Amino acid sequence: MTVKVQQLDACRWRLPREGAMRTDGLVFANRAMMAALQKEQALEQVRNVATLPGIVGPSLAMPDIHWGYGFPIGGVAAFDADEGIVSPGGVGYDINCGVRLLRSNLQAQELRSCLQQLADALFRNVPSGVGSHRRDLRLTLAQERKVLQQGARWAVAQGMGNELDLQHIEDGGCLAGADPDLLSERALERGRDQLGTLGSGNHFLEIQMVDEIREPRLADVLGLFPGQVTVTIHTGSRGLGYQVCDDYLRIMLRAAARYGISLPDRQLCCAPLNSPEGRQYLAAMACAANFAFANRQLITAWVRESFEQVLHQSAAAMGLSVIYDVCHNIAKYEQHIVAGVPRRLCVHRKGATRAFPPGHPDVPACYRAIGQPVLIPGDMGRYSYVLVGTAAGFEETFGSTCHGAGRLLSRHAAKKLASGRRIEEELAARGIVLRAAGRGTVAEEISEAYKDVTEVVEVVQQAGIGRIVARLRPLAVIKG
Ligand code: 5GP
Ligand code: MN
Ligand code: MN
Repeated sequence: MTVKVQQLDACRWRLPREGAMRTDGLVFANRAMMAALQKEQALEQVRNVATLPGIVGPSLAMPDIHWGYGFPIGGVAAFDADEGIVSPGGVGYDINCGVRLLRSNLQAQELRSCLQQLADALFRNVPSGVGSHRRDLRLTLAQERKVLQQGARWAVAQGMGNELDLQHIEDGGCLAGADPDLLSERALERGRDQLGTLGSGNHFLEIQMVDEIREPRLADVLGLFPGQVTVTIHTGSRGLGYQVCDDYLRIMLRAAARYGISLPDRQLCCAPLNSPEGRQYLAAMACAANFAFANRQLITAWVRESFEQVLHQSAAAMGLSVIYDVCHNIAKYEQHIVAGVPRRLCVHRKGATRAFPPGHPDVPACYRAIGQPVLIPGDMGRYSYVLVGTAAGFEETFGSTCHGAGRLLSRHAAKKLASGRRIEEELAARGIVLRAAGRGTVAEEISEAYKDVTEVVEVVQQAGIGRIVARLRPLAVIKG
C-alpha cells in the first residue's frame, strides 16, 4: 500500500497528519530510497508512532529506516515528560545495542603480515556466535547486579580498561536509575554467562583502516589520520536485554489498556512516563543498557589483549584508545528547545544514534568544539563512517541521526542471493579477512543485504543533521 507523502526538498518527506495521527511524520531519504520505502510497511509504522500520546515534534525516520517491531528501525520519537509515554518497541529488543570505535597509532600496512593472526586472536579471545562465553568469566548474581548498576565502570574496576575509556562513552558508560530488582529471574539468568560476548548475526568486530578523510581539522581532534588502523565493536545487551524487552512488552500491553491508550498496532504497547509501569520499564531498561556498556568494555579489553599477543607491543604503545561509544537502541530523558520553549522529553532512538552538537555539555570536553562523534557502520564488504553532530540536527531531530546503512534484503532473501557463492573468497579477493562462527550468518550478512552506507550518510550530510568526517574500510571482520 502507498502512504501519502509530500516531498519537502531533496532529502525530506512529510507524512501529513491525518486520522488518529497527532503530528506529522518526517522521513529523511533521497528519491530512490523513498520509492523503495513506498513498497514497505515502515512508513506506516512512522505514521502509527505519530498517534501515540504526548509525542512532541514529528515522528521521525532516518535514511536507514526499515521495518521493525512496532516502531521502525531508524525511528526517533520524543515524548513530553508529563504527558508522554514510553514504549519498549520504541527502544527495540537489543537494548543499548551500540557501536564503539577504537583508534590506534598503527598504519594499515603494519598489519599486512599479521592480519590473519590478528583475526584468529580476536576470534579466540572474544566469544562470538550462539552460546559462546569466556571460561574465565562467570558472574555470581551479586556481581551481575553490580554490572547492571555500574555499566562500563564495573568492567574498568575489574582492571578491564581505564578512566579515559569511560569519558569517551555516551553517558560515561552508565545510565542512572538502574534497578536490578525489576528484572525477571530469566533475564538475570540469560545475562550471567553472556557478558563479554559478541553474539551473532549483525553483531561484529572489525579491524578497519581510515580510507578517506573529509574534514581534516575534525579528524585531527578525533585522533584520526589516513591509513590508520581502527577497530569497531558492534554489540548490545544480548539475551538479558532481549528478555527485559519481552517481559515488559507483556506488562505494557496491560498498561496500555489500563490507561486507555488506543494502539493502532499492539506492538506499540506503552505506558505513561509518569506511571509505575513507565518508570519501571525505564529502570529495567537502564540495567540492560548498563549490561551492554559493560559488554563493549570487556570486549575492548580483549581487543587490546589480542593486539598485544600478536604485535608484541603494549596496547598503550599502540595507542589503542576509545574514540567514542554510542547507543543506538535507547530511550532517555533530555532537555530540548521546542518552539522556543525548553522542555524535558523522553527521546526514543531505535536504530538511531544520538548526535549532539558542538558546545553541548554532554559531549566530552575533548570533542566539545566539534560535536559528538557519531559512528555509522555500513557492511562487512564496503565502508563505515565517522560523523559528528550538528546544531541544525539538534533542533530538527532532537540531536539524532542514522545508525547504519539499514537492511535492504530480508535474511531469507540475502541467503538466497548468497547461495552457491563463496562469500569468504569474494571478501578475501578484496583484501578482507573473515572469521565467522556460523556459515548461515555470513550469507545473511552479505554486503548486498544492506543499503549503500555512502548514500545514507550523504542524505544525513545534505540534510544537515550530521557532518561526515572520515570513511573507514574493513580489513578483517569477526562475525558471530
Ligand atoms: P543493527 O544494529 O541495525 O543490527 O545494525 C547496524 C548497522 O550495522 C546495519 O544497519 C549495517 O549497516 C551495519 N553492519 C552490519 N553488519 C556489518 C559488518 O559486518 N560490518 C560493518 N562495518 N557494518 C555492518
Ligand atoms: Mn543488536
Ligand atoms: Mn545494533
